[in-house]
Amino acid sequence: MTPTMPPTKTEHVIKRIEPEAPLIDVMGGSARWEISLHKHGLVALVDVMPRMAPQGQTADFAIVQAARVSYGAGTKKVHEDRGLIRYLMRHRHTTPFEMVEFKFHVAMPIFVARQWIRHRTANVNEYSARYSIVPDRFYRPTVEEVRKQSKGNRQGGTEPVDDASAQEFLTYLERAEKHYHDYEHLLEKGVTRELARIGLPVSVFTQWYWKCDLHNIFHFLSLRLDDHAQQEIRDYARAMFQLIRPICPVACEAFEDYRLHGIHLSRLEIETIKTGQPLATDNKRENAEWEAKKPRLGL
Ligand SMILES: Cc1cc2nc3c(=O)[nH]c(=O)nc-3n(C[C@H](O)[C@H](O)[C@H](O)COP(=O)(O)OP(=O)(O)OC[C@H]3O[C@@H](n4cnc5c(N)ncnc54)[C@H](O)[C@@H]3O)c2cc1C
Repeated sequence: MTPTMPPTKTEHVIKRIEPEAPLIDVMGGSARWEISLHKHGLVALVDVMPRMAPQGQTADFAIVQAARVSYGAGTKKVHEDRGLIRYLMRHRHTTPFEMVEFKFHVAMPIFVARQWIRHRTANVNEYSARYSIVPDRFYRPTVEEVRKQSKGNRQGGTEPVDDASAQEFLTYLERAEKHYHDYEHLLEKGVTRELARIGLPVSVFTQWYWKCDLHNIFHFLSLRLDDHAQQEIRDYARAMFQLIRPICPVACEAFEDYRLHGIHLSRLEIETIKTGQPLATDNKRENAEWEAKKPRLGL
């Protein structure tokens, strides 16, 4: 028994309740779990809420614990917890997933950070290039990784561009990276860091601490693991998913089953499946999207 703290005149009594089962660290006692990528990049999990879980359980327990406030204690066996989490995911009862939080330390190029920062539900604290000197680190793909602009998808491409154009692109990046020497030189001459930095390219690395709850991380992942997202941010999203999966495996499996690998069907698409008639729209993009879904439905 932990002793109960004696109250002062203005304070209440704090009861310290012992856990029913011994608690374990969901990160197994590690200071951080880190994945390196893009030569200078990293995604590191630095903390989780709940950090401690009853022995034999994962952080999934916090989702169930919160959900049972609304659904009542009911039965408490592990396989029933799994069923409850999967039910919550299917029925978009999202708030219990907000009870789990993750804090990451991420280093990524500024063009990735610009896309990432659009996710407004996280708490972010970024490296200050007004206060500190920007390190000499740039994102540079390999020749094979330089992609050719797709004709169908105006946002990017997946095929490699020809070798000569890839080489030319890398030379162009090299020239941009050389601005770093001017940056250092101008700092030495006394130009402020906040101004000197503005000539650096968006391939330069930044870093931040990024804290977000599981519901909003799933939203981030559903958008940034998708084929439509830029390859580079997808690499970071994949690393993030790999880090959170062992912490709350049941919720992550439900996310994969019902959201990530599920398909949303429109009313028109459902009609087409039922009647065998063409999609009732002449919108080219909508028809192309339907054509892309068909093989996944075995049609
Ligand atoms: C493939 C792809 C292409 C994109 N292209 C572009 C582009 O060309 N130009 C561009 O500007 N952006 C672009 N974006 C960014 C996109 O429009 C969103 O800003 C980004 O994906 C964040 O999504 P979100 O707002 O849903 O997420 P979050 O900011 O994390 O918000 C999560 C959810 O919270 C709610 N929410 C948060 N803040 C508010 C608020 N203030 N008011 C109401 N509801 C709120 C919404 O329901 C929202 O879906 C692109 C994103 C993707 C994935």
